[in-house]
This record gives sequence, C-alpha cells and structure tokens, in this order.
Amino acid sequence: MTTLPIDAPYDTYEDDAYEDGNVLAGPLSEVFAVDLTAAVTTCTGCGSTGPLARLRVYGRGPGLIARCPHCTHVVLRLVRSPGTAWLDLRGTVSLRIPLDGG
Ligand SMILES: [Zn+2]
Repeated sequence: MTTLPIDAPYDTYEDDAYEDGNVLAGPLSEVFAVDLTAAVTTCTGCGSTGPLARLRVYGRGPGLIARCPHCTHVVLRLVRSPGTAWLDLRGTVSLRIPLDGG
C-alpha cells in the first residue's frame, strides 16, 4: 500500500498558526468541479458539523491539514505533489456538497 507522502506536521501543531478552510478552495478546485468550501463536513472526532471553510488549516503545502475547530481532530488532509493530489478524508463522516444552489 502506498502511503500518503505528507511532510507537514500532523501530530504536533501550533494552535494559533492556522488559516480558515477557504485556503483549500484553490487546491481543491484542481480536483472537484464545484466549490467545496461550502460543503458541510461531519467530524469523526466529535460529530460536529459545519462548512469546510470553517476548518482550521495548518501548513502551507504541499501538505495541508484541516482540523475540526471544536475538537482539533484532523478532518481532511490534502497533499499536492507534481502530477498527483492526495486527498485523505478519513476524519470526516461525510461531505454534504450543495449543488445547483442547494
Ligand atoms: Zn471535531
């Protein structure tokens, strides 16, 4: 099994050193045809739900780590390397993606 080639901090992070989930809009637009910042995530750590834009994003790429603003559980990881994007969604129960104005 190939492992996620991530070099950004995962287990340790500085609590104040984050940006909101809107910084994921550009990188995710390479993968998805819709803007995912409005998609609703459900955290596997605490069960809270909220728009992807409210996640706390640590790291500046190529590894971006998005944590739950309530319990700091890692909800999403995105790693961009030449020719490949790795998206790790194991920290979210689901992504509810609004389509056609929904
Ligand atoms: Zn949580």
